Parts: sequence; C-alpha cells; structure tokens
Amino acid sequence: MSLIDGFEHIARENESLAGYTRLKLGGPAEYFAEPTTEAELVGLVTRFSDAQQPIRLIGSGSNILVGDEGVKGLVLHLAAPVFCDLNVGDNSIISGGGTKLAHFVSTAVREGFSGPEQLVGIPGTVGGALHCNSGAQGEDIGTWVKSADVLTRSGEVHTRSGDSLAFSYRQSSLDELVILRATFEFEKEDPESLTKQMQKLWIVRRAEQPFSQGNAVYVFKDQGGQSAGELIDRCGLKGLQVGQVQVSELDANIFLALPGATPKQVLDLIQKVKDRVRDALSVELETAVRLW
Ligand SMILES: Cc1cc2nc3c(=O)[nH]c(=O)nc-3n(C[C@H](O)[C@H](O)[C@H](O)COP(=O)(O)OP(=O)(O)OC[C@H]3O[C@@H](n4cnc5c(N)ncnc54)[C@H](O)[C@@H]3O)c2cc1C
Repeated sequence: MSLIDGFEHIARENESLAGYTRLKLGGPAEYFAEPTTEAELVGLVTRFSDAQQPIRLIGSGSNILVGDEGVKGLVLHLAAPVFCDLNVGDNSIISGGGTKLAHFVSTAVREGFSGPEQLVGIPGTVGGALHCNSGAQGEDIGTWVKSADVLTRSGEVHTRSGDSLAFSYRQSSLDELVILRATFEFEKEDPESLTKQMQKLWIVRRAEQPFSQGNAVYVFKDQGGQSAGELIDRCGLKGLQVGQVQVSELDANIFLALPGATPKQVLDLIQKVKDRVRDALSVELETAVRLW
C-alpha cells in the first residue's frame, strides 16, 4: 500500500521541488500534496505522522534551499482557495496561511489599515511570513497578529492567542507544522496616504533589490542591529561568485542563481561569505534561509 492511497487526486510521488522555490533549484519531494480541504490536509498529516514519516510545508519557497537529493516524506503546499482567502472586518483581516503576502499588503492598504504597507515587496505567503516573522523598515508581521489557527504534526487544530504568541526578530512561536489562518488587527489611517507610502517604499525596494535579475534568495539575518547586506558589502563581497551563484551587486544579502546554478554552489557561497565576514569583522552571520 502506498502512503498516498486515497489521496491520488491531490498527491503525487517524486515531485520536483525546484519549481516551488524562488531559487528554482533542488531535487524532488518523495511525496507532494496540495490538499483542497482542511479535512484532506488533516487526513494526510495524520497518515504520514502515524507512519513516522517527515512532513514539511512549503509556502512560496522564497526562504527555502532544497538540496539536489530532495527530501524524504511529505511536502505540503497550500495552494487551494480554501487556504488562500482574506476576510476584511472594521479594523481586522482574517487571512489564510497560503494567501500571498502581496495580496494581504495591498488589501490592508486599500482598507486604511496601517503598518503592512512597510512589507511591500517581500515575497512569500502570509503563513511563511508569520513562521519567519518577516518584516522590513522595523515593522514585522507579528506586530498585528491577534490569534492563529495551527495544525500540529499529530493532526490536531489549535488556536493560539495571547501569551502563546511571541514574535522577535525573524522568529515566531508559531512553529507548528501548518499555520492555517490568522487574525490581524490594525490602527486605521487614511488609505490614500498609506497608498502613497507603499508606492514610495516599492520604488526604493525595486531600486535596491534585484527583482528582475532572476532567481534569488535572501540569505542572512541582520546581526545586532547591523544589516547583513551592509556587513557583506563592507567586506567588498558584492558580485562574489561560486560557480553560477552570485552575491547581488544591488543588495549583498541576496544571492542570485544564474543559469546552471546548483544548490551546492549556494551552500558554498554561503560558507565563503560567512568566513570572509568573520575574518574581516569578527561577526558570525546566521542564515535566514531554511536548508532542506
Ligand atoms: C528577493 C527577496 C527579498 C526578501 N526580502 C525580505 C525582507 O525584506 N524581509 C524579510 O523578513 N524577508 C525577506 N525575504 C525572505 C522571504 O520572502 C520571507 O521570509 C517570506 O515571508 C517567506 O514566505 P514563503 O511563503 O516564501 O515561505 P517559504 O520560503 O515557503 O517557507 C519558509 C518557512 O516557513 C514555513 N512556512 C511557510 N508557510 C507556512 C505555513 N502556512 N504554516 C507554517 N509554516 C509555514 C516553511 O515550512 C519554512 O520553514 C526576501 C526574499 C527574497 C527572495
């Protein structure tokens, strides 16, 4: 019996993960599934958990590096509409975990909800952003969360709120297998003013980050209030290349995978940059990208 018996309409074996990551690199998942209902999601998680198989969740894959050998067990992808909705209230949004962050940001701005405009241009999903507490300009997504429904590895759904929600720099207490949905509350502001702020930030971001230069990954966490990109730049490493992977000339904390790049070259460039920054500045860079 196969582990995906009865789930053939939403699951497949040996699915390449490259197309699900922003770097467009990496090997296959042993099993890959895109459930269309919460019941199917819970059913799959319970089955793989009972079989003691590894289970992972992929959002937009903007913060994940998959090795050439791929991953064992199940990779879940929340692409179905039921996981990607947005419900707007007076000063709140309930967002699915699979909703694109860009959709969340533009909806918040249109409704006059203050804060998310700062996140414009960060790729990914709301679930991925919550798991990583993504942010920019000193604003992190965790700031506005009131509660979150999560699915554990054993297939139970819990609601997390109050003291069980904790966010710090690029870290979140929402570390269960799946963030199904979250409720956010905001202060209100004039939508027109928020739109202008978002447009300005977007223009700056486009100028400072290599959005059009291909497959990219945001590599390191800032260290002690110092921007990782600036630390790398101070060591003169912009443009440094290992094989077909290059430190971006625009933002040194972004690596670009050029045609023919491999996951191993990304790892080697990460190590090289870490070594050079440690030698020159005695700073130990920590990776933000998740290595699968
Ligand atoms: C060009 C570029 C610029 C970037 N700029 C920034 C920036 O300014 N600030 C910043 O903070 N980040 C930045 N990032 C990093 C990245 O965009 C964020 O971390 C993003 O929020 C990750 O979301 P994702 O859906 O792509 O997650 P993925 O990369 O798919 O997953 C990342 C982690 O989150 C988990 N995850 C994903 N979805 C869920 C879910 N629903 N439930 C539970 N766990 C989940 C995954 O299992 C994995 O561990 C940048 C990345 C790129 C490529």
